[in-house]
Amino acid sequence: MSKKIQAIRGMNDLLPEQSPVWQYVESCVRALMETYGYAEIRTPILEQTALFARSIGEVTDIVEKEMYTFNDRNGDSLTLRPEGTASCVRAAMENGLLHNQTQRLWYQGPMFRHERPQKGRYRQFHQVGVEAYGLEGPDIDAEVILLTARLWRRLGLNEHVTLELNSLGSSAARAAYRETLVTYFEQHRDVLDEDSSRRLSTNPMRILDSKNPDMAPILADAPRLMDHLDDESREHFEQLTTLLDSVGIEYRINPRLVRGLDYYSRTVFEWTTDALGSQGTVCAGGRYDGLVEQLGGKPTPAVGFAMGMERLILLLETLDVIPDDAQPGLDVYIVGQGEQIHGTTLQLGETLRNALPGIRLQVHCGGGGFRSQIKKADRSGAQLALLLGEEEIANDMVTIKFLRNDREQVSLPQDKLTEQLPELLGRSF
Ligand code: ATP
Ligand code: MG
Repeated sequence: MSKKIQAIRGMNDLLPEQSPVWQYVESCVRALMETYGYAEIRTPILEQTALFARSIGEVTDIVEKEMYTFNDRNGDSLTLRPEGTASCVRAAMENGLLHNQTQRLWYQGPMFRHERPQKGRYRQFHQVGVEAYGLEGPDIDAEVILLTARLWRRLGLNEHVTLELNSLGSSAARAAYRETLVTYFEQHRDVLDEDSSRRLSTNPMRILDSKNPDMAPILADAPRLMDHLDDESREHFEQLTTLLDSVGIEYRINPRLVRGLDYYSRTVFEWTTDALGSQGTVCAGGRYDGLVEQLGGKPTPAVGFAMGMERLILLLETLDVIPDDAQPGLDVYIVGQGEQIHGTTLQLGETLRNALPGIRLQVHCGGGGFRSQIKKADRSGAQLALLLGEEEIANDMVTIKFLRNDREQVSLPQDKLTEQLPELLGRSF
């Protein structure tokens, strides 16, 4: 026997038993976006490598070591998208969506990063994201946060996630702060770990993000960007917190929240949970007013976020808050046997689907004895089995067997079925 080929490490199959939960979350997300008037955008999974290098930043973890990059047959360097924002900006610019207009967009789909796979961290994972363009005031920052807060309420997660908030200021303020920070860390060179020493010259703000406990004391005393903000950014931030207070959104200001991507400015936020160990960030985002210009467009204010579907679903499962009806099963399973059966069960299935378009119905295929078919009907999770035997076929009848309670089976004329099924199943179609 030849060796079996396996999936790529860190890239998961979504199996039939898991897909109902995904569909449940996806349908909540879709409905949520509709209530806020956000329109879906879909972009290709592959982009030119330069798009990500120029937007996310050359010295970020993603671009330095996590991207799936290869040359195609023409020798062009392409990259599997590691996130959605850069593609979204590219598509919006390229298709004229940013000309004198505002946009509220959302997307979902797979992203790719070559990270060490572990619980809540994969090499192909899925994000849902939102991007709003052309709006510079803090009201839109507050709106995207409100939108996420509503999702947590709808999913039953609101007690389990915390909003962390910070401002990164303007790029000028950040550049000045960076120097202050470098001076400070240089005074503590002896305690910097290897990663941080390297970042000191490339991306010093990321040192603040270090999870190394030995570094905690010097991080705690580090100068805070919050104290070095430019006036406009400070005002923007104050207005945002006032807005959040007025709509009843709780938050914690975390002056060390810096985010791993270079394009952020002013507002940054994360929704985190304690329930998933070190993979605790469920949703992350912020403002990126400079990115459109950086990618060759006209200056356009922008704000957005992305959330990780796998982590979200892991959290729902860990907290056991997935509603039972998130996974609707079959209503009806049709069983048939006898010399005359031929296409009768398939025909009955089609008739019922025509009459009751919302019905969830499976017709037994593959033959077999009556008892084994009933067993399959039971295992299918259906509420009712419809039995067509020789006698039923001869009399245009059908026998109904109740699979989920002790009710005696009944026989009905076939032409009464569509009328009776809603009542028998206790739901309308
Ligand atoms: P982390 O600090 O956990 O690596 P990040 O800052 O790299 O996250 P973003 O690029 O902001 O994350 O992505 C937004 C969200 O996407 C994260 O909060 C997380 O929920 C999810 N995410 C990011 N990387 C992965 C991954 N490799 N596997 C699964 N989910 C991920
Ligand atoms: Mg990461």
